[in-house]
Amino acid sequence: MRSPIPDYLQEVLAACAPATGAVADYIPELAAADPDRLAICIATPDGAVYTAGDTDVEFTIQSMSKPFVYALAIADLGLKGVLAKVDVEPSGEAFNVISLEEESGRPENPMINAGAILTHSLVRGADDEERFERILEMFSKLAGRELSVDEEVFASEWSTTHRNLAMGHMLKAVGVMEADPVRVVRGYVRQCAIKVTCRDLAVMAATLAGGGVHPVSGERLLSREVTRQALSVMTTCGMYDAAGDWVTTVGIPAKSGVSGGILGALPGQVGLAVFSPRLDVHGHSVRGVEVFGRLSADMGLHMMDVA
Ligand code: GLU
Repeated sequence: MRSPIPDYLQEVLAACAPATGAVADYIPELAAADPDRLAICIATPDGAVYTAGDTDVEFTIQSMSKPFVYALAIADLGLKGVLAKVDVEPSGEAFNVISLEEESGRPENPMINAGAILTHSLVRGADDEERFERILEMFSKLAGRELSVDEEVFASEWSTTHRNLAMGHMLKAVGVMEADPVRVVRGYVRQCAIKVTCRDLAVMAATLAGGGVHPVSGERLLSREVTRQALSVMTTCGMYDAAGDWVTTVGIPAKSGVSGGILGALPGQVGLAVFSPRLDVHGHSVRGVEVFGRLSADMGLHMMDVA
């Protein structure tokens, strides 16, 4: 029997209000994105993928890379080792706030930039190249296809990323990060410039929803413990200073990126992704938030709902 889901997704797409908000332009190259793109994708842990709209258009992964690199760092170093360097407390602040815990110097969580920069430095690798290649390889496995870097977006952010460099220097100055800050920030910016589609993000999210097992290949890419940790910080910190609003209304562990994507993973059930580049004041996709709200309500996906 034909699934009713594709028709439903088309309906959601059609019912979406015209895009409002503006595309991110603090990274000059992101301003070149077509602001009216819209894509929705749902992937189940048993490998079914449903799409609507511009699902095969590529854009950069940006902050949606953070939970996966956090997972890789924990797999490499162990949870204790990572917690000693990056805490898991929601900061309630914007993604680019420069603040570290007073006593330990640790960034508050791995979803804000300071924490993500430090987390990047914890991924194993003989040098920067190897560290980055391991990240790219892992992302490719998660997406189920070979991914690559958007060199224009990378160059554009790298030449303007003074704030992230400032954070890198601060992490080094307080002694919480060992590696060279300029090299680490370069690697982090490259990590953010990996190109994905909405479909890739949904499949990556479905791996989290499936406890670390890839929905299509069936391969275990992350342990259950690591997956649980990544989903937990997505729940409390993934949507930055809108995290409380998101958890109470949408109720799906999620991560957004300034390129206009939002990915969400409901444990044991489904991976979701939406792409629409116009952003709200928190840096979240306006229509991404709208679509997630609808999907959650229509399909009963709020994690606190009692069946
Ligand atoms: N590369 C971006 C930055 O570090 C990611 C921000 C985001 O997607 O929230 O500023």
